[in-house]
Amino acid sequence: MFADYTFDPIRYALLNQEYTGSCSAEDLPALKGYLHSQQGVIDYKVKGYTNVNNAPVLEVEVKGQLELICQRCLGGLLTDLSSATRLVLVKDEKLLPEVEDEIEGEDVIVAPQSLSLLHLVEEELLLALPLTTLHDSEQCHASESELEGEGKTNPFQVLTQLKR
Ligand SMILES: [Zn+2]
Repeated sequence: MFADYTFDPIRYALLNQEYTGSCSAEDLPALKGYLHSQQGVIDYKVKGYTNVNNAPVLEVEVKGQLELICQRCLGGLLTDLSSATRLVLVKDEKLLPEVEDEIEGEDVIVAPQSLSLLHLVEEELLLALPLTTLHDSEQCHASESELEGEGKTNPFQVLTQLKR
């Protein structure tokens, strides 16, 4: 079971807090629609610190495997997932930097009063999902059934024979 944890993100960062753990697919309701089974384990880390500008930052990292759905055959496909994001926390919108001042690799957000660990992990996993999920052609069940279909009479061939 995922023991969710709600915290004040700015305070968390200023205190250099760090939280690591692992969870399984059933702990991640937001991912449910993308998963073929409950297989797989995800390790996560949420680390708070202050950057060179003394701004509070949350670093969110996820790494592991989940069984996604092949978009061709709808079968299961165990996929490596890994993603990390750095969120620079500001107290209000006026403090958001101009686009040109943004630092690469960091996202600046207005910090909410409280954040849920589970929500952060789920959001990061959604970012980690590949745009397309497909088996290699040898492993795909769709191509298997296509192969099985070979040798059987193609209905269009029958039509052409009838026309002769
Ligand atoms: Zn497939």
